[in-house]
Amino acid sequence: MSGNRQDKMATIVALCKRRGFIFQSSEIYGGLNSCWDYGPLGVELKRNVKEAWWKSMVSSRRDIVGIDASILMHPKVWEASGHLKGFTDPLVDCLLTKKRFRADDIEPQSGTVLHFTGAKDRESDAAITEPYSVLAKTPADFDKARKTAREFYQQRSIVKPELLGETTEEVENTTGFNPENGGKLTEARNFNLMFRTFMGPVEDASSTVYMRPETAQGIFVNFLNVQQASRMKIPFGIAQIGKSFRNEITPGNFTYRTREFEQMEMEYFVPPEEDENWYEYWKNTRFNWYLEYGIKKENIRLRDHEKNELAHYAKACVDVEYKFPFGWSELEGIANRTDFDLKQHSNSSGKSLALFDEETKEHMFPFVIEPAAGADRATLAFLIDSYDVEGEGKDKRTVLRFHPSLSPIKVASLPLVKRDGMPEKAEKIYNDLLSHSISSFLDINLSIGRRYARQDEAGTPYCITVDGQTMEDGTVTIRERDTREQYRVASDSVVECITSKLRNA
Ligand code: ATP
Repeated sequence: MSGNRQDKMATIVALCKRRGFIFQSSEIYGGLNSCWDYGPLGVELKRNVKEAWWKSMVSSRRDIVGIDASILMHPKVWEASGHLKGFTDPLVDCLLTKKRFRADDIEPQSGTVLHFTGAKDRESDAAITEPYSVLAKTPADFDKARKTAREFYQQRSIVKPELLGETTEEVENTTGFNPENGGKLTEARNFNLMFRTFMGPVEDASSTVYMRPETAQGIFVNFLNVQQASRMKIPFGIAQIGKSFRNEITPGNFTYRTREFEQMEMEYFVPPEEDENWYEYWKNTRFNWYLEYGIKKENIRLRDHEKNELAHYAKACVDVEYKFPFGWSELEGIANRTDFDLKQHSNSSGKSLALFDEETKEHMFPFVIEPAAGADRATLAFLIDSYDVEGEGKDKRTVLRFHPSLSPIKVASLPLVKRDGMPEKAEKIYNDLLSHSISSFLDINLSIGRRYARQDEAGTPYCITVDGQTMEDGTVTIRERDTREQYRVASDSVVECITSKLRNA
Protein backbone atom coordinates (compact mmCIF):
# COMPACT_ATOMS: atom_id res chain seq x y z
CA MET A 1 0.00 0.00 0.00
CA SER A 2 1.49 3.38 -0.95
CA GLY A 3 2.09 6.01 1.74
CA ASN A 4 -0.67 8.22 0.40
CA ARG A 5 -3.29 5.53 0.57
CA GLN A 6 -2.21 4.48 4.02
CA ASP A 7 -2.45 8.14 5.05
CA LYS A 8 -5.96 8.37 3.68
CA MET A 9 -7.06 5.34 5.68
CA ALA A 10 -5.38 6.68 8.86
CA THR A 11 -7.02 10.09 8.32
CA ILE A 12 -10.44 8.50 7.97
CA VAL A 13 -9.97 6.30 11.04
CA ALA A 14 -8.96 9.42 13.02
CA LEU A 15 -11.92 11.44 11.72
CA CYS A 16 -14.27 8.58 12.59
CA LYS A 17 -13.06 8.62 16.18
CA ARG A 18 -12.93 12.40 16.57
CA ARG A 19 -16.42 13.01 15.19
CA GLY A 20 -18.08 9.96 16.73
CA PHE A 21 -18.59 7.74 13.71
CA ILE A 22 -16.64 4.68 14.86
CA PHE A 23 -14.69 3.82 18.04
CA GLN A 24 -12.45 0.87 18.88
CA SER A 25 -14.45 -1.62 20.94
CA SER A 26 -13.53 -1.79 24.66
CA GLU A 27 -10.94 0.94 24.11
CA ILE A 28 -10.36 1.67 27.81
CA TYR A 29 -9.21 -1.94 28.22
CA GLY A 30 -6.77 -1.68 25.34
CA GLY A 31 -9.35 -2.51 22.67
CA LEU A 32 -10.58 -5.81 21.31
CA ASN A 33 -8.96 -6.70 18.01
CA SER A 34 -11.25 -6.37 14.97
CA CYS A 35 -14.28 -5.20 16.97
CA TRP A 36 -15.67 -1.69 16.47
CA ASP A 37 -18.47 0.38 17.99
CA TYR A 38 -20.54 2.89 16.01
CA GLY A 39 -20.88 6.26 17.76
CA PRO A 40 -23.72 8.81 17.44
CA LEU A 41 -22.93 9.84 13.86
CA GLY A 42 -21.87 6.34 12.76
CA VAL A 43 -25.01 4.65 13.99
CA GLU A 44 -27.16 7.12 12.02
CA LEU A 45 -25.05 6.66 8.89
CA LYS A 46 -25.21 2.86 9.09
CA ARG A 47 -28.95 2.91 9.83
CA ASN A 48 -29.43 5.10 6.75
CA VAL A 49 -27.40 2.70 4.61
CA LYS A 50 -29.53 -0.22 5.83
CA GLU A 51 -32.70 1.81 5.32
CA ALA A 52 -31.66 2.68 1.75
CA TRP A 53 -31.08 -1.02 1.07
CA TRP A 54 -34.39 -2.08 2.65
CA LYS A 55 -36.25 0.62 0.75
CA SER A 56 -34.88 -0.46 -2.60
CA MET A 57 -35.13 -4.22 -1.89
CA VAL A 58 -38.37 -4.50 0.11
CA SER A 59 -40.54 -1.41 0.74
CA SER A 60 -40.63 -0.22 -2.85
CA ARG A 61 -41.28 -3.65 -4.41
CA ARG A 62 -44.24 -5.97 -4.54
CA ASP A 63 -42.18 -9.15 -5.11
CA ILE A 64 -39.90 -9.12 -2.02
CA VAL A 65 -40.76 -9.52 1.66
CA GLY A 66 -38.56 -9.40 4.73
CA ILE A 67 -37.81 -11.61 7.73
CA ASP A 68 -35.70 -11.35 10.88
CA ALA A 69 -34.47 -14.82 11.83
CA SER A 70 -32.57 -15.70 14.98
CA ILE A 71 -28.77 -15.80 15.07
CA LEU A 72 -28.68 -19.21 16.77
CA MET A 73 -30.15 -21.97 14.65
CA HIS A 74 -30.46 -25.74 14.87
CA PRO A 75 -26.93 -27.21 14.41
CA LYS A 76 -28.24 -29.45 11.62
CA VAL A 77 -28.74 -26.31 9.50
CA TRP A 78 -24.95 -25.92 9.25
CA GLU A 79 -24.44 -29.59 8.49
CA ALA A 80 -26.93 -29.41 5.61
CA SER A 81 -25.63 -26.09 4.27
CA GLY A 82 -22.07 -27.47 4.12
CA HIS A 83 -20.68 -24.94 6.62
CA LEU A 84 -19.68 -27.50 9.26
CA LYS A 85 -17.50 -29.37 6.80
CA GLY A 86 -16.57 -26.79 4.24
CA PHE A 87 -16.43 -23.35 5.88
CA THR A 88 -12.79 -23.73 6.84
CA ASP A 89 -9.33 -22.30 6.24
CA PRO A 90 -6.13 -24.41 6.69
CA LEU A 91 -4.19 -23.21 9.74
CA VAL A 92 -0.68 -23.82 11.09
CA ASP A 93 0.88 -22.58 14.37
CA CYS A 94 4.54 -21.80 15.12
CA LEU A 95 5.51 -24.09 18.02
CA LEU A 96 7.72 -21.38 19.49
CA THR A 97 6.01 -18.01 18.97
CA LYS A 98 2.45 -19.44 18.73
CA LYS A 99 1.94 -17.15 15.74
CA ARG A 100 -0.79 -18.45 13.47
CA PHE A 101 -0.61 -18.59 9.68
CA ARG A 102 -2.96 -19.60 6.93
CA ALA A 103 -1.10 -22.63 5.50
CA ASP A 104 -1.76 -21.51 1.94
CA ASP A 105 -0.12 -18.12 2.63
CA ILE A 106 3.32 -19.66 3.35
CA GLU A 107 5.84 -19.45 0.49
CA PRO A 108 7.90 -22.67 -0.03
CA GLN A 109 11.44 -22.42 1.43
CA SER A 110 14.72 -24.36 0.91
CA GLY A 111 17.79 -24.86 3.17
CA THR A 112 19.15 -27.09 5.92
CA VAL A 113 16.94 -28.37 8.71
CA LEU A 114 18.67 -28.88 12.07
CA HIS A 115 16.90 -31.64 13.98
CA PHE A 116 17.37 -31.56 17.77
CA THR A 117 16.65 -34.49 20.05
CA GLY A 118 16.19 -32.45 23.24
CA ALA A 119 18.04 -30.39 25.86
CA LYS A 120 19.18 -30.65 29.46
CA ASP A 121 19.52 -27.96 32.09
CA ARG A 122 23.19 -27.09 32.63
CA GLU A 123 22.66 -26.56 36.36
CA SER A 124 19.95 -28.94 37.53
CA ASP A 125 20.72 -31.63 34.92
CA ALA A 126 16.97 -31.95 34.29
CA ALA A 127 16.38 -33.05 30.70
CA ILE A 128 13.64 -32.94 28.10
CA THR A 129 13.75 -35.19 25.02
CA GLU A 130 11.05 -33.64 22.89
CA PRO A 131 12.36 -33.41 19.30
CA TYR A 132 12.37 -29.99 17.61
CA SER A 133 13.58 -28.74 14.23
CA VAL A 134 14.64 -25.39 12.79
CA LEU A 135 15.20 -24.41 9.15
CA ALA A 136 18.41 -22.48 8.37
CA LYS A 137 18.57 -20.94 4.92
CA THR A 138 22.42 -20.85 4.89
CA PRO A 139 25.12 -22.36 7.18
CA ALA A 140 25.65 -18.86 8.57
CA ASP A 141 22.20 -19.19 10.15
CA PHE A 142 23.08 -22.36 12.11
CA ASP A 143 23.85 -20.48 15.34
CA LYS A 144 20.60 -18.57 15.07
CA ALA A 145 18.79 -21.90 14.57
CA ARG A 146 20.39 -23.31 17.75
CA LYS A 147 19.35 -20.21 19.65
CA THR A 148 15.76 -20.68 18.46
CA ALA A 149 15.91 -24.32 19.61
CA ARG A 150 17.20 -23.26 23.06
CA GLU A 151 14.31 -20.79 23.37
CA PHE A 152 11.94 -23.62 22.51
CA TYR A 153 13.31 -25.77 25.37
CA GLN A 154 13.38 -22.78 27.73
CA GLN A 155 9.68 -22.34 27.11
CA ARG A 156 9.31 -25.94 28.21
CA SER A 157 10.95 -25.28 31.62
CA ILE A 158 14.66 -25.95 30.87
CA VAL A 159 16.18 -22.77 32.35
CA LYS A 160 19.75 -23.01 30.98
CA PRO A 161 19.39 -25.38 28.03
CA GLU A 162 22.29 -27.34 26.61
CA LEU A 163 21.22 -28.93 23.36
CA LEU A 164 21.51 -32.72 23.13
CA GLY A 165 21.84 -34.51 19.75
CA GLU A 166 21.72 -32.56 16.46
CA THR A 167 21.44 -33.88 12.86
CA THR A 168 20.97 -32.01 9.60
CA GLU A 169 18.90 -32.61 6.50
CA GLU A 170 18.76 -30.71 3.19
CA VAL A 171 15.21 -29.75 2.14
CA GLU A 172 13.67 -28.01 -0.86
CA ASN A 173 10.35 -26.22 -1.17
CA THR A 174 9.12 -27.01 2.30
CA THR A 175 6.26 -25.10 3.88
CA GLY A 176 6.69 -26.67 7.33
CA PHE A 177 8.71 -23.83 8.94
CA ASN A 178 7.94 -20.33 10.14
CA PRO A 179 9.32 -17.94 7.47
CA GLU A 180 10.16 -15.40 10.23
CA ASN A 181 12.28 -17.50 12.63
CA GLY A 182 12.75 -20.88 10.91
CA GLY A 183 10.94 -22.62 13.79
CA LYS A 184 8.83 -25.70 13.20
CA LEU A 185 5.15 -25.31 12.40
CA THR A 186 2.39 -27.70 13.37
CA GLU A 187 0.71 -29.82 10.71
CA ALA A 188 -2.04 -27.92 8.88
CA ARG A 189 -5.46 -28.42 10.32
CA ASN A 190 -8.73 -27.14 9.03
CA PHE A 191 -9.97 -24.29 11.12
CA ASN A 192 -13.72 -23.80 11.02
CA LEU A 193 -14.63 -20.13 10.82
CA MET A 194 -17.89 -20.56 12.74
CA PHE A 195 -18.05 -19.31 16.33
CA ARG A 196 -19.28 -22.02 18.69
CA THR A 197 -21.08 -21.77 21.97
CA PHE A 198 -23.28 -23.92 24.21
CA MET A 199 -27.01 -23.74 24.64
CA GLY A 200 -28.10 -24.21 28.26
CA PRO A 201 -25.99 -25.07 31.31
CA VAL A 202 -24.30 -28.25 30.06
CA GLU A 203 -21.20 -27.69 27.97
CA ASP A 204 -20.92 -30.79 25.80
CA ALA A 205 -21.21 -31.84 22.16
CA SER A 206 -24.97 -32.25 22.32
CA SER A 207 -25.47 -28.63 23.41
CA THR A 208 -23.12 -27.07 20.85
CA VAL A 209 -24.66 -24.33 18.73
CA TYR A 210 -23.13 -21.94 16.20
CA MET A 211 -23.39 -18.21 15.68
CA ARG A 212 -24.63 -17.89 12.10
CA PRO A 213 -21.86 -17.10 9.59
CA GLU A 214 -24.42 -15.80 7.07
CA THR A 215 -28.03 -14.66 7.31
CA ALA A 216 -29.05 -16.62 4.19
CA GLN A 217 -29.78 -19.92 5.94
CA GLY A 218 -32.49 -18.30 8.11
CA ILE A 219 -34.21 -17.46 4.83
CA PHE A 220 -33.88 -20.93 3.28
CA VAL A 221 -35.27 -22.83 6.26
CA ASN A 222 -38.23 -20.42 6.39
CA PHE A 223 -38.82 -20.54 2.65
CA LEU A 224 -42.17 -22.38 2.71
CA ASN A 225 -43.38 -20.60 5.88
CA VAL A 226 -42.91 -17.25 4.17
CA GLN A 227 -44.24 -18.35 0.80
CA GLN A 228 -47.40 -19.77 2.31
CA ALA A 229 -47.99 -16.98 4.85
CA SER A 230 -47.60 -14.22 2.25
CA ARG A 231 -48.95 -16.23 -0.71
CA MET A 232 -45.98 -15.37 -2.91
CA LYS A 233 -45.51 -16.83 -6.40
CA ILE A 234 -42.13 -17.24 -8.05
CA PRO A 235 -40.28 -15.16 -8.97
CA PHE A 236 -40.19 -13.63 -5.49
CA GLY A 237 -37.62 -12.78 -2.85
CA ILE A 238 -37.02 -12.84 0.90
CA ALA A 239 -34.71 -10.23 2.42
CA GLN A 240 -32.97 -9.99 5.75
CA ILE A 241 -30.57 -7.63 7.53
CA GLY A 242 -28.73 -8.94 10.56
CA LYS A 243 -25.52 -9.78 12.36
CA SER A 244 -23.27 -12.61 11.25
CA PHE A 245 -20.10 -13.94 12.84
CA ARG A 246 -16.93 -15.42 11.38
CA ASN A 247 -13.81 -16.24 13.33
CA GLU A 248 -11.62 -14.74 10.58
CA ILE A 249 -7.92 -15.68 10.79
CA THR A 250 -6.77 -12.35 9.41
CA PRO A 251 -9.27 -9.60 10.23
CA GLY A 252 -8.24 -6.01 9.51
CA ASN A 253 -8.47 -2.83 7.46
CA PHE A 254 -10.68 -1.09 10.03
CA THR A 255 -14.31 -2.26 9.68
CA TYR A 256 -13.67 -3.99 6.33
CA ARG A 257 -13.01 -7.46 7.75
CA THR A 258 -14.24 -8.08 11.27
CA ARG A 259 -15.38 -11.11 13.21
CA GLU A 260 -18.81 -9.68 13.99
CA PHE A 261 -20.51 -7.83 11.16
CA GLU A 262 -23.86 -7.06 9.65
CA GLN A 263 -25.13 -8.48 6.38
CA MET A 264 -27.89 -7.37 4.02
CA GLU A 265 -28.93 -10.46 2.06
CA MET A 266 -31.78 -11.28 -0.27
CA GLU A 267 -32.66 -14.67 -1.76
CA TYR A 268 -34.62 -14.38 -4.99
CA PHE A 269 -36.45 -17.59 -5.97
CA VAL A 270 -36.96 -18.07 -9.71
CA PRO A 271 -38.06 -20.75 -12.20
CA PRO A 272 -34.88 -22.76 -12.95
CA GLU A 273 -34.96 -21.90 -16.65
CA GLU A 274 -34.98 -18.16 -15.86
CA ASP A 275 -31.91 -18.19 -13.58
CA GLU A 276 -29.49 -16.56 -16.00
CA ASN A 277 -31.78 -13.65 -16.82
CA TRP A 278 -32.44 -12.92 -13.16
CA TYR A 279 -28.73 -13.19 -12.38
CA GLU A 280 -28.04 -10.44 -14.94
CA TYR A 281 -30.92 -8.38 -13.57
CA TRP A 282 -29.63 -8.47 -9.98
CA LYS A 283 -26.04 -7.87 -11.02
CA ASN A 284 -27.06 -4.60 -12.71
CA THR A 285 -29.62 -3.58 -10.10
CA ARG A 286 -27.19 -3.96 -7.22
CA PHE A 287 -24.33 -2.22 -9.04
CA ASN A 288 -26.58 0.75 -9.82
CA TRP A 289 -27.73 1.01 -6.20
CA TYR A 290 -24.23 2.09 -5.13
CA LEU A 291 -24.10 4.68 -7.92
CA GLU A 292 -27.54 5.98 -6.99
CA TYR A 293 -26.32 6.64 -3.44
CA GLY A 294 -23.29 8.53 -4.64
CA ILE A 295 -20.38 6.12 -5.06
CA LYS A 296 -18.19 7.52 -7.86
CA LYS A 297 -18.24 5.49 -11.05
CA GLU A 298 -14.44 5.21 -11.24
CA ASN A 299 -14.29 3.66 -7.76
CA ILE A 300 -16.61 0.72 -8.32
CA ARG A 301 -16.54 -2.29 -10.64
CA LEU A 302 -17.97 -5.77 -11.19
CA ARG A 303 -15.63 -8.78 -11.16
CA ASP A 304 -16.84 -12.18 -12.35
CA HIS A 305 -15.55 -15.17 -10.40
CA GLU A 306 -13.40 -17.73 -12.21
CA LYS A 307 -14.82 -21.28 -12.17
CA ASN A 308 -12.24 -22.39 -9.54
CA GLU A 309 -13.22 -19.51 -7.22
CA LEU A 310 -16.88 -20.54 -7.00
CA ALA A 311 -18.34 -21.76 -3.70
CA HIS A 312 -19.52 -25.38 -3.67
CA TYR A 313 -23.16 -24.34 -4.19
CA ALA A 314 -22.69 -21.67 -6.86
CA LYS A 315 -23.16 -21.86 -10.61
CA ALA A 316 -21.96 -18.28 -11.13
CA CYS A 317 -20.85 -15.40 -8.91
CA VAL A 318 -19.86 -11.80 -9.41
CA ASP A 319 -18.42 -9.37 -6.87
CA VAL A 320 -19.20 -5.69 -6.66
CA GLU A 321 -15.78 -4.27 -5.77
CA TYR A 322 -14.84 -0.87 -4.38
CA LYS A 323 -11.47 0.81 -4.77
CA PHE A 324 -10.59 1.06 -1.05
CA PRO A 325 -7.33 2.81 -0.10
CA PHE A 326 -5.95 -0.72 0.47
CA GLY A 327 -6.95 -1.89 -3.04
CA TRP A 328 -9.96 -3.19 -4.96
CA SER A 329 -11.99 -5.33 -2.54
CA GLU A 330 -15.40 -6.97 -2.33
CA LEU A 331 -18.43 -4.99 -1.18
CA GLU A 332 -21.08 -7.47 -2.21
CA GLY A 333 -21.37 -10.84 -3.95
CA ILE A 334 -24.19 -11.80 -6.32
CA ALA A 335 -24.42 -15.57 -6.70
CA ASN A 336 -26.54 -18.07 -8.54
CA ARG A 337 -26.97 -20.61 -5.71
CA THR A 338 -29.10 -22.93 -7.90
CA ASP A 339 -31.49 -25.20 -5.93
CA PHE A 340 -28.65 -26.43 -3.70
CA ASP A 341 -29.83 -25.05 -0.35
CA LEU A 342 -33.53 -25.89 -0.66
CA LYS A 343 -32.69 -29.45 -1.71
CA GLN A 344 -30.08 -29.91 1.02
CA HIS A 345 -32.49 -28.77 3.73
CA SER A 346 -35.27 -30.93 2.30
CA ASN A 347 -33.05 -34.02 2.37
CA SER A 348 -31.55 -33.28 5.73
CA SER A 349 -34.76 -32.37 7.60
CA GLY A 350 -37.03 -34.85 5.84
CA LYS A 351 -39.46 -31.96 5.18
CA SER A 352 -39.71 -31.03 1.53
CA LEU A 353 -39.21 -27.36 0.71
CA ALA A 354 -40.40 -27.91 -2.85
CA LEU A 355 -43.10 -25.64 -4.25
CA PHE A 356 -46.29 -27.03 -5.74
CA ASP A 357 -46.80 -25.70 -9.24
CA GLU A 358 -50.55 -25.19 -9.80
CA GLU A 359 -50.16 -25.31 -13.57
CA THR A 360 -48.10 -28.46 -14.03
CA LYS A 361 -49.45 -30.03 -10.81
CA GLU A 362 -45.91 -30.99 -9.89
CA HIS A 363 -43.51 -30.18 -7.10
CA MET A 364 -40.44 -28.21 -8.11
CA PHE A 365 -37.39 -26.54 -6.52
CA PRO A 366 -36.83 -22.95 -7.65
CA PHE A 367 -33.31 -21.66 -8.33
CA VAL A 368 -31.96 -18.88 -6.11
CA ILE A 369 -30.17 -15.67 -7.07
CA GLU A 370 -28.55 -14.08 -4.01
CA PRO A 371 -27.27 -10.51 -3.72
CA ALA A 372 -25.32 -10.58 -0.41
CA ALA A 373 -23.94 -7.28 0.83
CA GLY A 374 -22.18 -6.14 4.01
CA ALA A 375 -23.69 -3.19 5.91
CA ASP A 376 -20.32 -2.33 7.50
CA ARG A 377 -18.38 -2.56 4.24
CA ALA A 378 -20.97 -0.45 2.42
CA THR A 379 -20.89 2.13 5.25
CA LEU A 380 -17.08 2.26 5.07
CA ALA A 381 -17.18 2.67 1.29
CA PHE A 382 -19.71 5.54 1.54
CA LEU A 383 -17.50 7.20 4.18
CA ILE A 384 -14.33 6.91 2.12
CA ASP A 385 -15.97 7.89 -1.15
CA SER A 386 -17.59 10.99 0.30
CA TYR A 387 -14.40 12.23 1.97
CA ASP A 388 -13.00 15.35 0.34
CA VAL A 389 -10.55 18.08 1.25
CA GLU A 390 -10.83 21.26 -0.79
CA GLY A 391 -9.46 24.80 -0.88
CA GLU A 392 -6.20 26.23 0.42
CA GLY A 393 -5.10 28.04 3.56
CA LYS A 394 -7.97 29.74 5.35
CA ASP A 395 -10.45 28.37 2.82
CA LYS A 396 -9.39 24.76 3.30
CA ARG A 397 -12.15 22.48 4.49
CA THR A 398 -12.83 18.78 5.02
CA VAL A 399 -16.20 17.73 3.78
CA LEU A 400 -18.09 14.45 3.72
CA ARG A 401 -20.24 14.69 0.61
CA PHE A 402 -22.78 12.04 1.60
CA HIS A 403 -25.91 11.59 -0.43
CA PRO A 404 -28.40 13.59 1.72
CA SER A 405 -30.46 10.52 2.52
CA LEU A 406 -27.35 8.89 4.05
CA SER A 407 -26.21 11.94 6.05
CA PRO A 408 -26.44 11.34 9.81
CA ILE A 409 -27.60 14.92 10.42
CA LYS A 410 -29.75 16.53 7.74
CA VAL A 411 -29.91 20.09 9.08
CA ALA A 412 -27.97 22.27 11.52
CA SER A 413 -29.75 25.27 12.97
CA LEU A 414 -27.29 28.08 13.76
CA PRO A 415 -27.82 31.56 15.24
CA LEU A 416 -25.27 33.96 13.73
CA VAL A 417 -24.51 35.40 17.17
CA LYS A 418 -25.48 34.51 20.71
CA ARG A 419 -27.80 37.49 21.37
CA ASP A 420 -30.69 39.61 20.11
CA GLY A 421 -33.13 36.68 20.21
CA MET A 422 -31.24 34.72 17.56
CA PRO A 423 -30.51 31.61 19.72
CA GLU A 424 -34.20 31.39 20.68
CA LYS A 425 -35.29 31.65 17.04
CA ALA A 426 -32.73 29.00 15.99
CA GLU A 427 -33.99 26.74 18.76
CA LYS A 428 -37.56 27.11 17.56
CA ILE A 429 -36.55 26.07 14.02
CA TYR A 430 -34.60 23.16 15.50
CA ASN A 431 -37.66 22.00 17.47
CA ASP A 432 -39.84 22.28 14.37
CA LEU A 433 -37.45 20.08 12.40
CA LEU A 434 -37.29 17.52 15.20
CA SER A 435 -41.07 17.37 15.48
CA HIS A 436 -41.07 16.35 11.79
CA SER A 437 -38.48 13.62 12.52
CA ILE A 438 -35.78 15.42 10.52
CA SER A 439 -32.49 14.57 12.19
CA SER A 440 -31.09 17.98 13.21
CA PHE A 441 -28.51 19.71 15.36
CA LEU A 442 -28.49 23.02 17.22
CA ASP A 443 -25.07 24.68 17.53
CA ILE A 444 -24.78 28.03 19.31
CA ASN A 445 -21.14 28.52 20.29
CA LEU A 446 -18.01 29.32 18.23
CA SER A 447 -17.73 31.53 15.15
CA ILE A 448 -20.17 30.81 12.33
CA GLY A 449 -17.26 29.73 10.06
CA ARG A 450 -16.11 27.13 12.60
CA ARG A 451 -19.64 25.85 12.98
CA TYR A 452 -20.07 25.47 9.20
CA ALA A 453 -16.75 23.58 9.12
CA ARG A 454 -17.93 21.19 11.83
CA GLN A 455 -21.10 20.42 9.88
CA ASP A 456 -19.17 19.95 6.61
CA GLU A 457 -17.00 17.40 8.38
CA ALA A 458 -20.08 15.56 9.68
CA GLY A 459 -21.58 15.52 6.16
CA THR A 460 -24.62 17.69 7.06
CA PRO A 461 -26.14 18.81 3.73
CA TYR A 462 -27.97 21.95 4.96
CA CYS A 463 -27.28 24.68 7.51
CA ILE A 464 -29.96 27.17 8.51
CA THR A 465 -28.62 30.48 9.78
CA VAL A 466 -30.63 32.93 11.85
CA ASP A 467 -29.20 36.47 11.52
CA GLY A 468 -30.10 40.13 12.01
CA GLN A 469 -32.38 40.16 8.98
CA THR A 470 -34.34 37.22 10.39
CA MET A 471 -35.34 39.36 13.32
CA GLU A 472 -36.61 42.03 10.89
CA ASP A 473 -38.29 40.14 8.05
CA GLY A 474 -38.57 36.55 9.31
CA THR A 475 -36.28 35.01 6.64
CA VAL A 476 -33.30 32.72 7.29
CA THR A 477 -30.46 31.57 5.06
CA ILE A 478 -30.05 28.01 3.86
CA ARG A 479 -26.42 27.10 3.16
CA GLU A 480 -25.74 24.13 0.90
CA ARG A 481 -22.84 21.92 1.99
CA ASP A 482 -21.47 21.03 -1.43
CA THR A 483 -21.55 24.43 -3.16
CA ARG A 484 -21.53 26.68 -0.07
CA GLU A 485 -24.28 28.58 -1.88
CA GLN A 486 -26.59 30.56 0.44
CA TYR A 487 -30.12 31.85 -0.16
CA ARG A 488 -32.99 33.13 1.96
CA VAL A 489 -36.32 31.50 2.67
CA ALA A 490 -39.14 32.37 5.08
CA SER A 491 -38.40 30.79 8.44
CA ASP A 492 -41.85 29.23 8.63
CA SER A 493 -41.22 27.40 5.34
CA VAL A 494 -37.95 25.74 6.47
CA VAL A 495 -39.49 22.35 7.25
CA GLU A 496 -41.35 22.24 3.95
CA CYS A 497 -38.31 23.38 2.02
CA ILE A 498 -35.97 20.82 3.63
CA THR A 499 -38.52 18.00 3.25
CA SER A 500 -38.83 18.70 -0.45
CA LYS A 501 -35.02 18.89 -0.86
CA LEU A 502 -34.56 15.57 0.89
CA ARG A 503 -37.30 13.95 -1.18
CA ASN A 504 -35.74 15.10 -4.44
CA ALA A 505 -32.09 14.50 -3.51
P1 ATP B 1 -14.49 -12.24 1.69
O1 ATP B 1 -14.06 -12.94 0.41
O2 ATP B 1 -14.12 -10.79 1.73
O3 ATP B 1 -14.14 -13.00 2.93
P2 ATP B 1 -16.99 -13.52 1.29
O4 ATP B 1 -17.00 -13.69 -0.21
O5 ATP B 1 -16.66 -14.66 2.14
O6 ATP B 1 -16.08 -12.24 1.67
P3 ATP B 1 -19.81 -13.54 1.49
O7 ATP B 1 -19.88 -14.85 2.16
O8 ATP B 1 -20.17 -13.45 0.04
O9 ATP B 1 -18.37 -12.90 1.72
O10 ATP B 1 -20.66 -12.49 2.35
C1 ATP B 1 -21.41 -11.45 1.77
C2 ATP B 1 -20.94 -10.09 2.23
O11 ATP B 1 -20.84 -10.05 3.65
C3 ATP B 1 -19.56 -9.69 1.75
O12 ATP B 1 -19.60 -9.19 0.42
C4 ATP B 1 -19.18 -8.62 2.75
O13 ATP B 1 -19.74 -7.37 2.40
C5 ATP B 1 -19.82 -9.13 4.03
N1 ATP B 1 -18.78 -9.79 4.84
C6 ATP B 1 -18.37 -11.08 4.75
N2 ATP B 1 -17.40 -11.33 5.65
C7 ATP B 1 -17.20 -10.17 6.33
C8 ATP B 1 -16.33 -9.79 7.40
N3 ATP B 1 -15.49 -10.65 7.97
N4 ATP B 1 -16.39 -8.50 7.86
C9 ATP B 1 -17.25 -7.61 7.30
N5 ATP B 1 -18.09 -7.92 6.30
C10 ATP B 1 -18.08 -9.18 5.81
